[in-house]
Amino acid sequence: MKICSRCGDEKPLEGFPKQAKVCKICTNAKAREVYHSNLEESRAKRRVIENRNYDTTKRREKARRWRARYPEKVAANNKKNQKWRNEWRKEWLKTKPGYMTPYSNARRDHIKRATPFWVKADKNHLKQIAEVYKSCKTRSIFHEERFEVDHIEPLRGKTSCGLHVFWNLQILTAFENNSKNNKLIVQPT
Ligand SMILES: [Zn+2]
Repeated sequence: MKICSRCGDEKPLEGFPKQAKVCKICTNAKAREVYHSNLEESRAKRRVIENRNYDTTKRREKARRWRARYPEKVAANNKKNQKWRNEWRKEWLKTKPGYMTPYSNARRDHIKRATPFWVKADKNHLKQIAEVYKSCKTRSIFHEERFEVDHIEPLRGKTSCGLHVFWNLQILTAFENNSKNNKLIVQPT
C-alpha cells in the first residue's frame, strides 16, 4: 500500500506508475487537464507525434531487425496467421487482376521444360503425375488447409535441377513448402 501525494488516498502498489508518488488516476487526470488547457497546441503536438509514427522507414527498419533476430518467432507467427493471410491475399489479388499471370506463366513454362520427353510421351507417367495433384487437392479440402505439390529435388535449385516426374513430387502444406523454397530437403515419409 502507498499513499498518493496528490489525492492522499492509500492505494495498492498496482495503482501507481513505477516509483511514482502520484497515483495513476491522478496522473491521468493531470495529463488530461494539461491537454485540455490548451487544446489547439495539444492537438498540433499530437499530430506531430502521429506523423512521426507514420514515417514508415524507421519502423520498417526496426521490424526488419526484429525479424532477423527472431526467425523462429516469425515462423510461429506466420503459421498462426496463415489462414488469415491467405484470405487477405485473395482479397488483395482481386484488386490487381492479372498480377500473378506472368508468374504462373513462367511457372508453367518451367514445368514444361522440366518434363522429360519420355514422360510426355507416356500416358501412364502423366496419369501418375495427375494423381499426385488430385490427391493434393483432396487433402487440402479434407484438412481445410492448403497443401501444395512440391518437387523434392527443386526444378530451380541452386545446385540441382529436378525433373517434373512423379517420383520427384511430394505433397507438403503450403507453409512447409514456403519454408522449403528451393532447397533440397528429403522429407521423412
Ligand atoms: Zn491520487
